[in-house]
Amino acid sequence: MNRPVSSRRLSGKRVVVLGAGRSGLAAARLLAAAGADLFASDLRPAEELAGALAELDRLGVACETGGHSLRGFPAPDFAVASPGVPASAPVIRALSERGAPVFSEIELASWFCEAEIVAVTGSNAKTTVARWIEHVLREAGRDAVACGNVGYPFSDMVRERPRAQVAVVEISSYQLELIDSFRPHVSVLTNISPDHLDRHGDLDSYARAKARIWLNQREHDWAVLPADDELVASISAGIRPRTAQFSLDRCPAPGAGLSGDTIRLAVAGEAEHVTDAGALPLPGRHNVANALCAALACRLLGVPLADIRRGLASFAGVPHRLELVADNGRVWLNDSKATNVDSLRVALASVPGPIVLIAGGRDKGAPYDPLRALVNEKVARLLLIGEGAARLRDELGDLTPAEIVGTLDAAIERAHAIAQPGDTVLLSPGCASFDQFADFEQRGDRYRERVRALVRDDDNNHPSHIRGGFSD
Ligand code: ADP
Repeated sequence: MNRPVSSRRLSGKRVVVLGAGRSGLAAARLLAAAGADLFASDLRPAEELAGALAELDRLGVACETGGHSLRGFPAPDFAVASPGVPASAPVIRALSERGAPVFSEIELASWFCEAEIVAVTGSNAKTTVARWIEHVLREAGRDAVACGNVGYPFSDMVRERPRAQVAVVEISSYQLELIDSFRPHVSVLTNISPDHLDRHGDLDSYARAKARIWLNQREHDWAVLPADDELVASISAGIRPRTAQFSLDRCPAPGAGLSGDTIRLAVAGEAEHVTDAGALPLPGRHNVANALCAALACRLLGVPLADIRRGLASFAGVPHRLELVADNGRVWLNDSKATNVDSLRVALASVPGPIVLIAGGRDKGAPYDPLRALVNEKVARLLLIGEGAARLRDELGDLTPAEIVGTLDAAIERAHAIAQPGDTVLLSPGCASFDQFADFEQRGDRYRERVRALVRDDDNNHPSHIRGGFSD
């Protein structure tokens, strides 16, 4: 592979790490272990970086906070940028002008990766698909590790698991903007929808950033793509790797699809029967698409059908994605990861009504009208929280009773008071969490904890009224 800097020759290289968050620290650990001479730089003030600064200090890495002046570190050889630093940031331009290329943390880690790489990108479903692929591969006895945006930096994975057989790397478009030689053996594009437009400006440039996943793939590598999507078809026309598609409406070859309720794979020769969609453990049609996508990637990696069948059926799902939190005659679902309108729409489509929907948070500016038909059909009550509450009420409040309740705790109390037996209480915010929480995980954890406490109290007070149990 044409690596800009060989992993074996980083000793003594002068490297700037931009951003001291989770992936920046992982990059620093990897580079320090490789003997590079490091300097870290973060825009945030030192008070917000206490833990990170302590770790950088332990690694012997000099650091500046509150800006990227880089004054303390002349003439770097290259830089590694965290996903939080956009490719258009002035510091990236300044470094390039000084002749120092800037790479993403994914690019850096790939220089050290001996494992086969499966890269998963897309607007939605990345974590679910990456984890499902990892699970199926493990069912098949392969030492597979999901990493990247799933919450385990790729740079930590290559350092801690150097002998793993397959790295299933979840990648955002931000990280793809700054790759150079990163080459997945199998790339997976789950879908493209209008999210993250605030950073990329328009759908075309967002799609082009995603298209970089194929940049270094070779003729015998594979690209897994959604079928029948015009935007995907236009950006993937003429790409170098072989392509295989998945579809909920037909059975492409090579690819994966549904005929009736049957999941089929057609990779080499005849389409093979895998399993029934009804046998999948996760709810909703979108999860059938996710299963097709994961099964296809695994088949392309040579996993036997029997292992794929078992791995599809035994996957436990990922927390915060339509996670069943409690069932006390009302089903309580945690879909805190639904941080955009499309994933909220998907949740509404997957869950039977009547739904008491808890939505809102930091508004990303996308219109809510794609939700109107489903809200009209299924949502019995809208409980609205956070900064986006008023716009949600204005755009959807004519369809169903809508209350601005402010906080998540207030919404849970209210849902507890009004939900009827047979209802589903769904936290699927459709908005980011940052107005009231550190991240979507903290929001979902709070929901799970509060809901279970309320249901447990009910159980203690009126044990005979409880029909279901907890799912842990
Ligand atoms: P990502 O890692 O891309 O954010 P996740 O697997 O974490 O994706 O799921 C994010 C949200 O998107 C969840 O709310 C989930 O229910 C929803 N989702 C999952 N799969 C799909 C899909 N195929 N299409 C649209 N939305 C999906």
